[in-house]
Amino acid sequence: MAAVNHERLKQLFLDIARIDSLSRCERDVAMRLKHELESAGASCRFDDTAEKVRGNVGNLIAHLEATREGVAPLLLCAHMDTVAPGEGVKPVVEGDIVRTDGTTVLGGDDKSGCALICEVLHQVRELGLAHGPVDVVFTVCEEIGLLGARHLDLNLVRAREGLVYDSDSPRHLVVSAPSAQGLRFTVRGLEAHAGMVPERGLSAIKVAAEAIAAMRLGRIDDETTANLGVIRGGRAGNIIPNEVTVNGEARSRDGRKLAAQVQHMVRCFEDAVAQAAVTVDGNRVQARLEYRAVPAYAGMKVAEDAPIVRKVIEAARRIGREVVTAATGGGCDANIFNHRGLVVANLGTGMHDIHTVREWLDLREMAAAAEVTVELIKLHAEA
Ligand SMILES: [Zn+2]
Repeated sequence: MAAVNHERLKQLFLDIARIDSLSRCERDVAMRLKHELESAGASCRFDDTAEKVRGNVGNLIAHLEATREGVAPLLLCAHMDTVAPGEGVKPVVEGDIVRTDGTTVLGGDDKSGCALICEVLHQVRELGLAHGPVDVVFTVCEEIGLLGARHLDLNLVRAREGLVYDSDSPRHLVVSAPSAQGLRFTVRGLEAHAGMVPERGLSAIKVAAEAIAAMRLGRIDDETTANLGVIRGGRAGNIIPNEVTVNGEARSRDGRKLAAQVQHMVRCFEDAVAQAAVTVDGNRVQARLEYRAVPAYAGMKVAEDAPIVRKVIEAARRIGREVVTAATGGGCDANIFNHRGLVVANLGTGMHDIHTVREWLDLREMAAAAEVTVELIKLHAEA
């Protein structure tokens, strides 16, 4: 039975939860984690991602040297940044549950992953396990587009397979995640005084509203979603607006469904714009549309029979736990790693209601993920 030091794990989590680490400002928490990893016997360095993302620190990369020859290196990864409102976090512990005071997120996404990885390294050393090389990567700027993983210097990472810890249940090993497209629509109409000459204007806001009203949004099917999340436009209540910009996204685990949904959203805007025109002094002015669809990230699909997947499930079974493979609607660093040629699945950590001020962490679940990982490192060295 793999063990973890529950008290040490909890204290480290509470410690780092209290350190502010919004995206691009992860240095303080990175230094605390570096200290923890070094105290567990790992050697640490940072890559040059800080400059590339204009942040105050790069990705933290730690190597734990093997105590057994001939074992393939294993990657353990979590991200250090948190979403807003995430400054001045005051964790409140109620038994095995940690919440906030309701004014901030907890940052269990993803400091639970950071904390449990550190505890795994402590255990590996204290139990004197025979193990292969372990590479720990704590990324920056995950929450603003997986930037840390995108820019990670893979020359500093020996492992080509492993785990990201960035989802809710430690009973779930996420092997499938959607591709996402960021979308931006700009509708242009014609400006006019709303009280004196409204017939000389063409409201970009009204045109966009018609497009949006005709659009399928939210959950499209079991693997496809779409959202428009930001609208900006107009100058004043008495001016017919000549421009409005609408930002959103579409996601799907099926590439064809993603393309179809993006096409549908574009078509809704095109149809609304095509029907909107005004004639001023004998000249017909037609509403216009510009749009951009930018791939936000590629999906991930790790084979159910990939060695890393089989080993995690077997490691859990050996310590009397069940882990099953799962699909998610979110993206994480694993999307990028798989795209960059690694094989990386995503194990849950006990984080819940993330990206809200109601976020909470189940300490038993965080410990369970650590236990499974200690057993995984053991099992991986046997093969
Ligand atoms: Zn996360």
